[in-house]
Amino acid sequence: MEHEIKDVTILGAGPTGLFGLFYCGMRGASAQVIDALSQSGGQLTALYPEKYIFDVAGFSKILAKDLVRSLETQAAQFGEPVHLNQHVTALEEHDGHFVLVTETDRFPTRSLVLAAGIGAFSPRRLPQAVAEPWYGKGIQDRVLDPEQYRGKRVIIIGGGDSAFDWAQQLRGIAESISLVHRSDRFRAHASTVADVLASVDSGSTRLFTFHELHDIHSDGDYFHSVTLRHMKSKELAQVQCDVILPMLGFVSDLGALTEWGLRLENDEIVVDSQMETGRAGIYSAGDICTYPGKLKLIATGFAEAATAVNQAVHWVYPDKKVAPGHSSNMAVFGQKDD
Ligand SMILES: Cc1cc2nc3c(=O)[nH]c(=O)nc-3n(C[C@H](O)[C@H](O)[C@H](O)COP(=O)(O)OP(=O)(O)OC[C@H]3O[C@@H](n4cnc5c(N)ncnc54)[C@H](O)[C@@H]3O)c2cc1C
Repeated sequence: MEHEIKDVTILGAGPTGLFGLFYCGMRGASAQVIDALSQSGGQLTALYPEKYIFDVAGFSKILAKDLVRSLETQAAQFGEPVHLNQHVTALEEHDGHFVLVTETDRFPTRSLVLAAGIGAFSPRRLPQAVAEPWYGKGIQDRVLDPEQYRGKRVIIIGGGDSAFDWAQQLRGIAESISLVHRSDRFRAHASTVADVLASVDSGSTRLFTFHELHDIHSDGDYFHSVTLRHMKSKELAQVQCDVILPMLGFVSDLGALTEWGLRLENDEIVVDSQMETGRAGIYSAGDICTYPGKLKLIATGFAEAATAVNQAVHWVYPDKKVAPGHSSNMAVFGQKDD
């Protein structure tokens, strides 16, 4: 399907891309966002929807999923589309405009803002073949709704932030929690590790260090227990469980973006202070771009999105100034009659 041409197309519906879409509307530019995932929000939706964020300006704390909902609402006021389930695989350039190509659709655009975060990403899967058939049937590598695990016997596999965060947050919800990790070194926030280890000491969490998944035992469609194996002694331990949550990080794939003639450094797009990528009409913002002093934060992504969009709008319509003016004094929001 060929879509209508837009002034600005934003690749990536993470916080940066969603704020960029709002900004396009505010500048009177037609726009669209394209994302490979089935929901917008990028890492916030895919990796930590139930976590509080404390460093977004104006919010003492806000759940990641609530921030995404606010960004969607803010962007939606201009009626420009967010195209989900569209994995961009190629970029074409024809007669002064670009076309982003996905497996099914073509998105023509006069300019581009690449806000592709860490690339199209997916959770790292358990390496044991025995786990594969149980994905979606008891093995879940994303926690979208903690209530789903109420009264369940949960095994969490991993030693990083996600594993420890969920071990902490499912306490009191799940019937039991067992944390399984291949070593005794954890890559999680020290205070969360301390909290979980205290719950191990008090008996409310079980911890299996130097263990890995060995086997899964089922009655037909549901499993009821797993066998864990000690990495050194090879001793086996059987643990009752209804759900396995592998929290092994994620693999990301920049894919096609590396072939678009952009300046790359460690798989990040090098931009200047105007968010220019070195290819005319293509800008970048958020986690995917880099420059000296870069901070990979939601806050910086917002600022970069504003810069990138204002530059893109000026590039498409040179008579429009780069400086947007103040939203508090704009006709588009009913604040002025011009
Ligand atoms: C556990 C965790 C906690 C965090 N906590 C905080 C915090 O407290 N405060 C803070 O400021 N930051 C935090 N961060 C970092 C923050 O989430 C990122 O800085 C932010 O998500 C970057 O936003 P983004 O829009 O640039 O990229 P992303 O959120 O990564 O979104 C990029 C989007 O682009 C899409 N995409 C990529 N390639 C393609 C393609 N080829 N085709 C189609 N779509 C594509 C992806 O599917 C994704 O949806 C945290 C990160 C993690 C992992």
